[in-house]
Amino acid sequence: MSNYDVIVIGGGPGGYVAAIRAAQLGKRVACVEMYQHKGETPALGGTCLNVGCIPSKVLLETTEHFHRLDSLAAHGISIKGASIDIATMQTRKDGIVGQLTGGIEQLFKANQIDWIQGQGKLTAKDSVAVTDAAGKVETYKTQYVILAPGSVPIDIPVAKMDHTHIVDSTGALSFTEVPKRLGVIGAGVIGLEMSSVWHRLGAEVTIFEASATLLPQVDQEIAKDAGRQFKMQKLDIRLGAAVKQADVKNNEVVITYEDKKGDQTQTVDKLLVCVGRRPNTQDLFAEGLGIKCDDRGFIEVDDQCRTGLANVFAVGDCVRGPMLAHKASEEGVMAAEVIDGQSPHMNLELVPSIIYTNPEIASVGKTEEQLKAEGIPYKKGDFPFAANGRAKAMDADKGRVKILAHDVTDEILGAHIIGPMASELIQELVVAMEYKAAAEDIARICHGHPGLVEAIHEAALAVDGRALHKV
Ligand code: FAD
Repeated sequence: MSNYDVIVIGGGPGGYVAAIRAAQLGKRVACVEMYQHKGETPALGGTCLNVGCIPSKVLLETTEHFHRLDSLAAHGISIKGASIDIATMQTRKDGIVGQLTGGIEQLFKANQIDWIQGQGKLTAKDSVAVTDAAGKVETYKTQYVILAPGSVPIDIPVAKMDHTHIVDSTGALSFTEVPKRLGVIGAGVIGLEMSSVWHRLGAEVTIFEASATLLPQVDQEIAKDAGRQFKMQKLDIRLGAAVKQADVKNNEVVITYEDKKGDQTQTVDKLLVCVGRRPNTQDLFAEGLGIKCDDRGFIEVDDQCRTGLANVFAVGDCVRGPMLAHKASEEGVMAAEVIDGQSPHMNLELVPSIIYTNPEIASVGKTEEQLKAEGIPYKKGDFPFAANGRAKAMDADKGRVKILAHDVTDEILGAHIIGPMASELIQELVVAMEYKAAAEDIARICHGHPGLVEAIHEAALAVDGRALHKV
């Protein structure tokens, strides 16, 4: 007899959510999680809660408040001598992380899920060996396994991390003081978010991006808007700048990079390397079980996250698709429901993607570049927040909503927002697209006034050339 019906390896948003859903469905569940941050007590929640989504958003929120103080004079509010205490900011962040990771422990207790602390490895079809912190190995039998080991930052040989001067995103979330000069390798989502945090606190930030295009995966009109906004904020983003070497000398980091003018050097106090993440699938399962990884280490799965071994599933950052927490969680739910004999479905095409800079950038579905490349006839409507009363009142009238719809059927194929609360606004369009709505469906819905959502309404009207507040 098995110890468990389901063992989940990994307690991040993919794994812990899978464990909860399986327990809700009446399974005996254990979750194996080895995460220990800075040698402290073990925690559930994975990258997302401990060193990813949550701490980064807490710091973005705090620093945005601080940064906004400068603009309050226009409201008639005068603030003199404002300052920020980094230690307090970090304590608040750690407190929120602790509340949320502790909350998952409570959820596990309430759902009678066993948390097995240690490193899990699938050693046979029905066996998971767990090595605890002291090196003791215990093997558990199970009917089903869900692999959710997540991902880890990619290390590049030209900028070897010493975790003091050259750091990854985890290091940049924990700086105890504002670096005077911060270098960042990679203008991706994490690079831009972490740059925003420290730039708002006064760091001179230089971002080195090898690609000649900013945010190549984002709709390019929106990416260009973003580039203009970042320039106005004096974020120094150097495109086409490939870092060739970074060395720590005399408490500084000397960076050599190549751009179209040839080799250049730049000296910074801290260097953040964020060039992407790789699946954390090494030593996760024994050879010969039928589970396969691609050449980049991603576990191969079908549409319902089944691996090549019938009773084993894999979800989250370790499988194909965007490396996002909400995608991981939805896959976790799906895997648990498949195990329960249900027929869930997940549409990877409609996973919203968000960058929490100011302005925020959010999108779902196809970009204009993708529609062109795929030869799909489309029409577009856009609407600027500059013509939206609520955005004006909020002092956040930069950006726009852009909707792409099929030229013949009017079905919404893509939606892209740069502007205030884009992260929240995008969800109306995700719902609409899940229901295969036409742009006209949104155009005919009454939206609250004054509201940022009116920009979505107007963009939908604009698809048919009839926006009401656009010249
Ligand atoms: P993870 O969260 O990485 O969790 C995997 C867990 O498995 C880890 O805790 C690990 O310790 C454990 N583990 C691994 N191997 C084993 C083993 N053999 N035995 C036991 N335990 C094991 N995504 C968003 O959607 N929104 C955001 O705003 C966002 N911001 C981010 C900001 C930063 C700075 C970073 C780094 C990431 C961010 N992400 C964001 C990405 C998000 O964190 C990941 O997509 C998400 O955490 C993936 O979930 P997961 O469950 O697949 O893996």
